[in-house]
Amino acid sequence: MPSTMQALVVLEPGRMEIREVPVPTPGPNEVLARVRAVSICGTDAHIIRGDYPGFWPPAFPFIPGHEWAGEIAVLGPGADLYGWQVGDRVAGTSHDACGVCQKCVEGRYNLCENYGRAGLHKQYGHNVQGADATYVVQGVKTIFPLPDGLSFDQGAVIDPASIALHVANRGNITPGDTVAITGAGAIGLLAGDAARIRGAGRVIVVGRGSRLAKAAALGFETVNTAAGDPVGAVRRMTGGLGADVVLECAGVPEMVEWALEMLHRGGRCAAVGIPTLGVEIAMQRLVLDELELVGSRASAGEMRRVMPHVEAGRMRVREMVTHRFALGDYAAALATFNDRASGAIKIVVAP
Ligand SMILES: [Zn+2]
Ligand SMILES: [Zn+2]
Repeated sequence: MPSTMQALVVLEPGRMEIREVPVPTPGPNEVLARVRAVSICGTDAHIIRGDYPGFWPPAFPFIPGHEWAGEIAVLGPGADLYGWQVGDRVAGTSHDACGVCQKCVEGRYNLCENYGRAGLHKQYGHNVQGADATYVVQGVKTIFPLPDGLSFDQGAVIDPASIALHVANRGNITPGDTVAITGAGAIGLLAGDAARIRGAGRVIVVGRGSRLAKAAALGFETVNTAAGDPVGAVRRMTGGLGADVVLECAGVPEMVEWALEMLHRGGRCAAVGIPTLGVEIAMQRLVLDELELVGSRASAGEMRRVMPHVEAGRMRVREMVTHRFALGDYAAALATFNDRASGAIKIVVAP
């Protein structure tokens, strides 16, 4: 094992460098993994810009990255008891929850009551160092076997695929439902596949630009927000009724408002997009039409459950990867990610 490695180090908001840093050592129930592919998430762009000061990350310098796949290089004490061996191919996720609080024992570890408390909870690439490096240390609760048939690039998109399945689960989609997806980014497109996995009869993606074209190419019905009133369009497409379920994947205030307006009576909206501004909720309609609005945070148990759907091609992660860069070219990769004209959906970086 080398003693140092390459890592993307964010020195302060907006300023980053590829640096040679010490290879970390895995503690009890942790592994050191050789990162083979790490995918850029919208959250990474926010973290690098410094949009969540003092929270994600708690302090600079910081190594981001949380959607990755690779191979186990070193086992920390006890990791072998869970069956892990050096060389195992794995896909990683970010929430390493305490496992003991009431939310954790109920399986809702994404809502861990000990969030961010040192020694109890970590979220890799958010409040502790992440995977934008040659190696990463992660706890055994956050790594999952990557089937032989899946590449590392696909493995780096399992975490967002699990988040898409989680929002579809939070939406309680039942077979035959008409599902509208607001937002045609990676999570929105993957949520379209997740809706079908849950049995949606129709999936209508609401968005614009090259991302909406991608939604059409993937076989979803589409509504172009640039072409006029998207709520009216969804109503026209559904005989005036609206969608049974809306999965809100944009996090833009007007999209959230549209999401609620395009619901069928008694419909349910599950929101995974995180608006940075307040959103006005039409409470009168929510009450009188018995609408439901629920949040959806990361995933909770879906990493393993989504894997067979990825293998079978029902959750199309390969189709999401539009660009690939070496870790040394991270600045160019991030610029491509932030450029809407680039057609980027998922960008994979190889350390
Ligand atoms: Zn992510
Ligand atoms: Zn907990």
